[in-house]
Amino acid sequence: MYKIVLDPGHGGEDPGAISLENGLREKDITLKIALYAKEFLLKNSLARVKLTRENDVFIKLRERSKIAKRFKADFFVSIHVNAGGGTGFESYIYLETKDLTLAFQQSLHNEIINTLHHQHESIPNRGLKRANYAVLRETSMPAVLTENLFIERDFELLKDEMFLKDLGEAHARGIAKFLKLETLI
Ligand SMILES: [Zn+2]
Repeated sequence: MYKIVLDPGHGGEDPGAISLENGLREKDITLKIALYAKEFLLKNSLARVKLTRENDVFIKLRERSKIAKRFKADFFVSIHVNAGGGTGFESYIYLETKDLTLAFQQSLHNEIINTLHHQHESIPNRGLKRANYAVLRETSMPAVLTENLFIERDFELLKDEMFLKDLGEAHARGIAKFLKLETLI
């Protein structure tokens, strides 16, 4: 049985990206997406799922990869929201990664983009990227980090609970399709 760790970015004293104007905080959005993804996976597959946090608490980056290691996770997905004035969705893997991780990224990325475009055709696909992010570098299992739109320019979507549910379920389906957890597809 596959074990998945979902990592809602930030939390507690670390709000992540914030939009003062709209009262949105990255830490709240990432937790909601992760909880929706977990709920969908548990309801529709036999995968075991653990979140690095289930509520609004601060967890160090190093502790997040340790949680995944202790759980003996097969796959790790870190969930974030972008900031800095752009718009759209992008995903990351570590600089040096194996084919399996790239295939995992492609499955997750494509499912999320398809879901987003189903209702919002104009959301830019910013592509599959690589970066030296701590949670990607320090996890030993295939790991992908998703940047789910931008807190400033995409706030109309990010404040919509149904949209966050769609995003969470898209993460779950992307994982399920890759792992061939057939009941989900
Ligand atoms: Zn973040």
